[in-house]
Amino acid sequence: KTRNGHEPEFIQAVQEVAETVIPYIADHDIYNGKNILLRMVEPERLISFRVSWVDDNGNIHVNRGYRVQMNSAIGPYKGGLRFHPSVNASILKFLAFEQVFKNSLTTLPMGGGKGGSDFDPKGKSDDEVMRFCHAFMGELSRHIGPNTDVPAGDIGVGGREIGFLFGMYKKIRNEFTGVLTGKGRSWGGSLIRPEATGYGTVYFAQSMLKTQGHDFSGKNVVISGSGNVAQYAAEKALQLGAKILTLSDSQGYILDKDGIDEEKLAFVMDLKNNKRGRISEYVNKYPSASFHKGETPWNVACDIALPCATQNELGGDAAKSLIKNGCICVAEGANMPSTPEAIHEFHEAKILFAPGKASNAGGVATSGLEMSQNSLRISWTREEVDQRLKVIMEDIHNSCIEYGKDKDGYCNYVKGANIAGFVKVADAMLAQGVI
Ligand code: NDP
Repeated sequence: KTRNGHEPEFIQAVQEVAETVIPYIADHDIYNGKNILLRMVEPERLISFRVSWVDDNGNIHVNRGYRVQMNSAIGPYKGGLRFHPSVNASILKFLAFEQVFKNSLTTLPMGGGKGGSDFDPKGKSDDEVMRFCHAFMGELSRHIGPNTDVPAGDIGVGGREIGFLFGMYKKIRNEFTGVLTGKGRSWGGSLIRPEATGYGTVYFAQSMLKTQGHDFSGKNVVISGSGNVAQYAAEKALQLGAKILTLSDSQGYILDKDGIDEEKLAFVMDLKNNKRGRISEYVNKYPSASFHKGETPWNVACDIALPCATQNELGGDAAKSLIKNGCICVAEGANMPSTPEAIHEFHEAKILFAPGKASNAGGVATSGLEMSQNSLRISWTREEVDQRLKVIMEDIHNSCIEYGKDKDGYCNYVKGANIAGFVKVADAMLAQGVI
């Protein structure tokens, strides 16, 4: 805390891990006295750089770019790039720290990293986004590579941005390699990667529900966000027979009591991905739905809640409201969307709760599969990738149960995910010595 006191999100993420991992270390002689957690919380490298670019009117802008290379004990750094005005070192360090545990849980050989910029793609033309991405990669290209660090997308970085970033990397390095994941299908991308985080979150929730004899069929589902993760979580939940009641963005949420079906979801995907519109426009097309400006959807009665927007979007009062209204399962599609107070409420009420580092790991796992396909120069079918994703999510669920089940049979998935993720990385760090 002395060293990172000015970084609240990072402290929050570390505290959550420390609370479950420190007692585990104390009980296990091989980790005791090695200062292993202290070594894990210090990034191996944090790069910050200037990104200057010119807008359509000839004005020069300066943004700050970052890459946090957190831990490479079990593989090359791997983690997304976020473009959002709120991006700073604290947010990227929290995301990179979470990524280390998440990547370890996937069973694939990937270390943890994260990066991005305080650039805001909203309201920018395609040409402006291209010039920014090219300028950003002009510097980032020195620090990454297919065997060093393999970035991907995150908030504000989707297929369009990955394309511009990849193009510039290829030009500078004069090599066509799997240096980024989330690429287009015709230039090295993997089938199912766009769907993977949302699908994986639902697969994970499905495994949790199964432990209590439930499934998605006929359940009311509340989802926040309307970006990549939210869209495909909604798609998979629909396929499993659920009714989707809400979606949101940073301006508010829409409630459709008739359910957001496949046709309505296709409208949202076109609105958000192609037209880059606002979720409030949904009610112009479907007037029986309502828009709730400036609010989050957690007071809507549901069986299952999937927070898929951003960090700390679900606080203690929202958690109480979900529980009071009968919610039995919360699976995080976003990273750290629930505050510590909310998690406390879920655990007190003993409802099913999955932290993002377990339930949203399907995205990075499929990025790992994209890396494998790039290295092998082959392309697996949709069914093959989806099947591997399902197996990985089941394996992560089993690891959480192994380390997180209490004596009374309740599974604390936070504890399970933290310890399972920790053990693999810690063992690798111990084997490699003090470096
Ligand atoms: P997108 O940019 O595609 O979508 C983000 C969504 O969240 C948008 O609806 C956005 O609304 C909303 N949002 C963003 N910031 C805020 C905010 N401060 N307050 C309220 N709403 C907000 O991002 P993704 O769907 O890719 O990412 C969503 C979450 O999932 C993030 O936490 C990310 O780290 C996590 N994640 C993503 C993975 C991936 O593969 N993409 C993998 C694992 C985790 P608006 O359009 O108004 O900004």
